[in-house]
Amino acid sequence: MSHVSLQDVQVVDVHCHPYVANEEPYRPEEFVRKLSLAVIPFLPAPSSHSGRKPFPGTNMWMQILINRLARYFGCDPTVEEVVRQRNERAEDFRQYTRALFQDARISGLVVDFGYPVPMLDKKAYADLCGARIWEVYRIEPVMVRLRTETASFGEFLERFRADLRAALKREEVIGLKSIIAYRSGLQIGEKDEAAASEQWPLFQANERAEVKAIRDYCLHVALEECTEADKAMHIHTGIGDGDVVLPKASPGFLLSLLRDKKYVETKVHLVHGGYPWIEEAAFIVSVLPRVYLDVSLQNPFAGHGVRRILSQVFEFAPFDKVMYGSDAFTVPEMNWLGVHLFKECFERLLNEWVAADYMDAETARCIGEMVLYGNFQRVYQVS
Ligand SMILES: [Zn+2]
Repeated sequence: MSHVSLQDVQVVDVHCHPYVANEEPYRPEEFVRKLSLAVIPFLPAPSSHSGRKPFPGTNMWMQILINRLARYFGCDPTVEEVVRQRNERAEDFRQYTRALFQDARISGLVVDFGYPVPMLDKKAYADLCGARIWEVYRIEPVMVRLRTETASFGEFLERFRADLRAALKREEVIGLKSIIAYRSGLQIGEKDEAAASEQWPLFQANERAEVKAIRDYCLHVALEECTEADKAMHIHTGIGDGDVVLPKASPGFLLSLLRDKKYVETKVHLVHGGYPWIEEAAFIVSVLPRVYLDVSLQNPFAGHGVRRILSQVFEFAPFDKVMYGSDAFTVPEMNWLGVHLFKECFERLLNEWVAADYMDAETARCIGEMVLYGNFQRVYQVS
């Protein structure tokens, strides 16, 4: 074996979100909008668009998706033609979605049902995509709900902990998830009950209030419960949609928390691998034995950058610490292209490593399998 191929390898997507069928066929500009991380709606596309000129608002990842879908459908690589074909095929959305998942060999997914809101039906989503589903349980919606259901901060804390504990007992829940990077940032302070309690009225008045002491306190509780249950704490790191508190989203902020003796036994999963602070995340997982990262979001949304990113991740990250993910959130094409783009970029890199005589093709192939599903199965003890 001299050429490394990952085409036949099964895939577990360790971070993504559910979606439902679109009710009406997409217009080209609507489909393009679904592919974007923007929180502010696009301006309408000028009606004059035609030919091979890039469709207004598209970037590299969308360009690659349109090209690859055109190949999959056997049609012209224009947004208009691809969307027309997509609308036809997605009339039976379940069949269409399942075909995409099978084509990409996706056997399992870790789904964050915390987005979109209101929460979508879990059984319906599992039936739609036909893959095995595990869940991460988001802590912020629990905080938001309990803030109006409880009379005091003390009662809030008690019920918050009980709620997380009950969720972690469910077999399909492999861990908790926090999006504190979207609220008060990743510079997590000590567990300070007095300071947190002082902010309670602010949080009661506004669910989006910064209330850093409360958010930090709740993250500590979540880490404690994950440690107790031996399940993983998933923490959003790096960019996300346009709402993220970008200056405080670097995984480097988490280092002092993660090396705290209290949490040396805690499994922590850095969601999105901290992009664009990839090297920081890679360094962190290389020095802390129970911290892992995934490449979701940067893959596939960094487009051609996925090859560069993988090269940078493996400058420091151990091979057994990195997991495949997509962060698909609106359409199944995101899960699909995530796999194809990742495999294409990783194969190129693995073959370079073989050509450089860093390893033989067999070892390179093993690394591909580890990242695509093996590390997930080992870390989360599932098969
Ligand atoms: Zn996500």
